[in-house]
Amino acid sequence: LFAGRVEFLKSAPALKHLPDPDVPEIAFAGRSNVGKSSLLNALTGRKSIARTSVTPGRTQELNYFEVGEPTRLRLVDMPGYGFAKAPPKVVEQWRRLVRDYLRGRVVLKRTLLLIDSRHGVKPVDADMMQMLDEAGVGYRVVLTKADKIKASELEAVTAETIAAARKRTAAYPEVIVTSSEKKMGIEELRAAVLQDSLI
Ligand code: GDP
Repeated sequence: LFAGRVEFLKSAPALKHLPDPDVPEIAFAGRSNVGKSSLLNALTGRKSIARTSVTPGRTQELNYFEVGEPTRLRLVDMPGYGFAKAPPKVVEQWRRLVRDYLRGRVVLKRTLLLIDSRHGVKPVDADMMQMLDEAGVGYRVVLTKADKIKASELEAVTAETIAAARKRTAAYPEVIVTSSEKKMGIEELRAAVLQDSLI
């Protein structure tokens, strides 16, 4: 499916800009700089369909990508969080947009929560997990940048991340380990996205 049509659709700065809820959606969430754009590019096999924002933490938009012809699913790139220098007003704006989207979007099938392998689950990630739990949105945890750490460290952070996910009601019990750089875990991720879009 990803070998076919993949196109940027629109940026939605508010819920009224969302496309009609007529196609399944899979959302991608994570801290700024977690590697979300790189992973979306690797997933879709495109070089730069998703672009890193120039000023991290500033883009408060849901970026939509369409997959398939006719459209079979939409990928939703959620604004990154945890940007240290973000003013409280920006954080509050982010919270409202993300929370309202998660709570109200009937076609949202699953969220992929990206966690940097080097850092593991941080308090801001736990907050995101809680928002997903509260919204009743099922999610999978995806470790990114797995090429950046040693195999032994990766094993430890994977185990810790699985343990953190298992404490949560809406979390899928397994984690997908990826590296956009080394194209690791990308097929597994594609399979998960396709499977989730059909639920
Ligand atoms: P975003 O802010 O979450 O969209 O993150 P980006 O995709 O822009 O990635 C942030 C930085 O991490 C960039 O410098 C990327 O080159 C780097 N990066 C992303 N994915 C990987 C990966 O799998 N391996 C390595 N080594 N670096 C990565």
